[in-house]
Formats: sequence, C-alpha cells, structure tokens
Amino acid sequence: MNISRSQELFKQAQQVIPGGVNSPVRAFKSVGLTPLFIAKAKGSKIYDVDGNEYIDYVASWGPMILGHANDEINTAVRAALENGTSFGAPTELEVEMAKAVVDAVPSIEKVRMVSSGTEATMSAIRLARGFTGRSKLVKFEGCYHGHSDSLLVQAGSGVTTLGLPDSPGVTKGAAQDTINLPYNDLAAVEKLIREEHENIAAVIIEPIAGNAGVIPPKDGFLAGLRKITQEHGEVLIFDEVITGFRVGYGGAQQYYNVMPDLTCLGKIIGGGFPVGAFGGRADIMDAIAPVGAVYQAGTLSGNPIAMTAGLTLLNILKNPAVYEQLDKTGARFSDGLKSAAAEAGIAAQFTRVGSLSCMFFTDEPVFDYQSAKKSDTARFGAYFKSMLEQGINLAPSQFEASFVSAAHTEDDIDRTIEAARTALKSL
Ligand SMILES: *Cc1c(COP(=O)(O)O)cnc(C)c1O
Repeated sequence: MNISRSQELFKQAQQVIPGGVNSPVRAFKSVGLTPLFIAKAKGSKIYDVDGNEYIDYVASWGPMILGHANDEINTAVRAALENGTSFGAPTELEVEMAKAVVDAVPSIEKVRMVSSGTEATMSAIRLARGFTGRSKLVKFEGCYHGHSDSLLVQAGSGVTTLGLPDSPGVTKGAAQDTINLPYNDLAAVEKLIREEHENIAAVIIEPIAGNAGVIPPKDGFLAGLRKITQEHGEVLIFDEVITGFRVGYGGAQQYYNVMPDLTCLGKIIGGGFPVGAFGGRADIMDAIAPVGAVYQAGTLSGNPIAMTAGLTLLNILKNPAVYEQLDKTGARFSDGLKSAAAEAGIAAQFTRVGSLSCMFFTDEPVFDYQSAKKSDTARFGAYFKSMLEQGINLAPSQFEASFVSAAHTEDDIDRTIEAARTALKSL
C-alpha cells in the first residue's frame, strides 16, 4: 500500500499543528502508524490522498449515519448557502429543528442548539448545577463527555489510549467536584447518593458507553439510575452524542424506555456539520438565559447551514425502515466478525446495539471500563494494520466503536469479513 503522500503531509502537519492533527485520536498513535490524510469520501467508501480506497467504519466518529457526501444533504446545503451562512439572529430553520428534536426524542420538551458535543455536555452540567443549587457531578469510568474541565476525569476515548487519567491544566478544583463510579454498578450509585445527595447536582452517563469500546447497560441499570435520582433530586443527564439518532430515531432513551431529565446530542444531529444540542424538561431548560439566570450562548449556534444539513438528515431518519436496515447491516458485520474470530481461534468479546458495535480482544466478558481495559491492545494494533492494508478503515483504537451506515451494502460487509478472516488468522 503506497501512502507516501500521507507520510509527506504528516511531516508537514507536525511542523505547524501539534502532533499534526486537530483531534488526538486521528494521529494513529495507539496503533503506531502514520495517519491517512483523506481526500474525499462517498457512501461507504473513503479515499486517501494517495488514491487508496477503504470501506469506512469510522463514519467521522459517528455522524455519517447515511454514509458520506449524501446527495440529499449536499443539495439542501448548496441551496441554503445562497441565503447566507450565519446571521446571529433567530431563523425559521431553528424553530423547525427544535420541533424535529422535540418530536424525535421522547424526554425533550425544549432544546437549545450549540456547535459541538463538548459544548452540549458542558452547558447541560452548568444548567443542572444552576437548577439544583448543588455542585457535585457523578460520571462513570470510561464514559467520555467531551473535553471540558470537570468532565476530563477518567474519561474514555483518546484519553484512554494516551494513558492520561487526567489532563494537566485541569485544576484540582474542577476535578474535585466530579465523582467517578464504575459503569453498570448500580449499587455504587445508590450508596453514594444516599450518603451525599444534598451535594450532588447531576448524574451524567452515556446510556450505551461508546468511548471505551461499546458497552451496553445491564438490564435495570438505567432504570435504577432513573429511580434513585428521581428520589433524591439529582438531574439525570443522558449524553446521547453517539446514541442519539444512532440506535433509533428516539435514541437510547427510547430503545431502553428510560427517560432522563436532560439529553445531550451531537455528531449525527449536524448531518456532518459542527452541531450539538441539549434539551429536556421545560422547567429545567427555562433556567437558562434569557428566561433564567444560567448563562449559555454561542455566536454560530443554530446557524442555517448546519440546521439545513441536520434537518434534511432527520427527515430521512424519520423512516423506521432506515433503522431496520442499519440493524441488519450491523448484525451481518458483528456476527461475521464473530465467526471469523472463532475460525481463527482468537478469543474476543462482541458487543452491539444496532449499527454500533465493538470487538474486544479479551476472553473475559466486558461490562465496564476495567474489564474493557483487559483487552490486548497490541493484538488490536496488528489486526487494525492488517485490515487497513486490505482496504478496511476501522477506528484506530481498541476503545472505539465501529459504525455501519445506511450506505454499507451486503457486499461491503462480506468483503470486510473476508479481510477480517485473513487479519485474524495472521495474529
Ligand atoms: C464525541 C462525544 C462528545 C463530544 O463531542 P464533540 O463534538 O467532539 O465535542 C461528547 N459525548 C460523547 C458521548 C461523545 O461520543
């Protein structure tokens, strides 16, 4: 595989961009390879600057649920550009978008748009603190909620593979109000809340953990969180930046039928543009300025290009057939990998919810961050490299999800499984 142009660009990039990338996981550091520089993408395929073609399972880390460069979204965005790209004033599109989100996500009564998932979670937490008048925050080990200070404590994603349990620059003050508990351990949450509930403003969770691989909630875990927080007045926040519009049109809350007080959205909701959103109970949301006193703002929030892309996408996703197909494709992918691993005699765990899945290189069940970390990352690295050389673009870390899109065909999946057979046998 010739990647000389990527290698050359990576050299140049490192001179002027820290690590050569604008987000750390892109650097391929955890698999010890040169990152590919991408020239273009269409449907299920992505193309690097040397002209190599790959079947893509990164999906820009989640947003590309219809595949890349979707024609309908592109046409809508081109038309919207003619009217201007940002006004810093309210638009009809924002009303339409808010109505679409309120319609789609069962627990959201009011919603505010922001420009990234990080902004959505950061704002939701400030709001929960302002609303309750309490300061502490409960999160779960291995859950990633963006890179704002109080959330960068035992987070997953890039923080895991870089081995940074915390980040320098996050003050003790910011971190000390964050309490980390093991994922799927309801007893630990109940004990803490019984002891400390006067101080705890919010419990934030990825309802399916998607930044430590993919870890679904155990039966009753989310419902248990709902019950205990309701009893003691904590705001329950579902960070559905990955799961929102991914595991179903109503997200994980609809999938598991557990309703949080606040929901954070991102990734898919922007149709490939930088968007996030947070919403939920009207009485909580009305604590934000200008109705309430909790401050939150954004110059490009709700800008017409992103709203157009997002609305066009949501309109397509409204059709339940899209999710039925995504689930079928996800099953073909995950089941295929499972049989390829069995054939090769490789011990692995497989988790999947719809189009979201992960293969962990460990022989023990994965149910939280500690069990996920037992995975053999060197083995993952060798697997990743072999897959890439065979034209399959996976996320360059054991602790990330694979995403199939509506553009992946059965042929794409079968070619991928064939490559996995070769890769797994070579380990
Ligand atoms: C990606 C992600 C975020 C952060 O979103 P950005 O748009 O990268 O700021 C927050 N929460 C979860 C669950 C995510 O996967």
